[in-house]
Amino acid sequence: MPLFAGVYAWLGDPRAATVCLLALTGVAASAFLARQPDRIPHARNTLAASVFLLLLSLVWLVGGIASPSVAWLSVCPMVAAAGGSRDRGLRWVAASVLAMLAVYLYERWIGLPAVLVRDLPLLYLVGNTCFILLVALFLVRYERNNDLALARLSEAMATIQRMATLDDLTGLCNRRELLRVLEAERERAERYQLPLSVCVLDIDSFKRVNDTFGHAVGDEVLRHVADTVQALARTTDCFGRYGGEEFLLVLGNTDLPGATELAERVRVAVMNSRAPGPGRPAVTLSIGVARHVHGEPIQRVIEVADRALYTAKSEGRNQVRTGGASVA
Ligand code: GH3
Ligand code: MG
Ligand code: MG
Repeated sequence: MPLFAGVYAWLGDPRAATVCLLALTGVAASAFLARQPDRIPHARNTLAASVFLLLLSLVWLVGGIASPSVAWLSVCPMVAAAGGSRDRGLRWVAASVLAMLAVYLYERWIGLPAVLVRDLPLLYLVGNTCFILLVALFLVRYERNNDLALARLSEAMATIQRMATLDDLTGLCNRRELLRVLEAERERAERYQLPLSVCVLDIDSFKRVNDTFGHAVGDEVLRHVADTVQALARTTDCFGRYGGEEFLLVLGNTDLPGATELAERVRVAVMNSRAPGPGRPAVTLSIGVARHVHGEPIQRVIEVADRALYTAKSEGRNQVRTGGASVA
């Protein structure tokens, strides 16, 4: 606005220059409103209204419907719509179109003040150049905001994906993800006639760990067991927290002896380890192992492994038991 005030003054129209400077009060008011987050829409409307009144005055003073300021009326909808308010933008489109019609009719029937600007083509040159630069600036900002919104969206999607598939406490797969992987592994095993085994792991007397050392240490023990077992699993195995102090190992392309061997290694590794935290509680696992029988629902292999786990518990804990040794 100060730039155009200077241009108009230099081209011989002090009235237009004064109008440009007066419009600065509207800009200042909108800047003041914009500092309060809940009044941002009012700030945009105040700015759009100031620009609208300024342009209308310039159209009135400098050439009517043929004035270079007419094209600038499109700035008001852009300002009002910025930030996603389509309705406000459309209202300013309607106001701009009606204003142009009114100027045209007034000019035709009544007439407008004489134009004082001495070099109208030069005014066009300056006005249109600034208009093109403004549109370019608007597009750059619009694209940048779009990129920012897309980046935020994909970040949010990644968070949702993480929350939907991972267990908060241990960072392992959660129950939902385990069941999804298990079902996918079942399909793969049946299609390629491969073995598929499952281990159900349960921390022994975990309630006592909580009761003796507190819940926080109990959580630490859960994380410790998760890390210890994860370190022994292959990258193709899926290890997750099935619920509470119970874990599931999904072993693709692994038969019952192979799964039992791994379960034994896991049991020994956990038994020989010490969880961090006060008291450094000893931890042991009971593990039930089962092999998926082709053609049976996937829930069945979990039930068989669970029964084997129950046997391990009833036979004294800290041991591995297999169930459903028959193969497909
Ligand atoms: P068992 O050897 O027969 O498995 O005995 P247990 O004490 O491990 O089994 P029980 O089912 O009686 O107790 C499981 C305990 O696990 C009870 C529950 O409070 C605890 N627990 C479950 N989830 C969490 C958790 O996220 N954090 C902690 N600290 N404890 C948990
Ligand atoms: Mg237990
Ligand atoms: Mg349990």
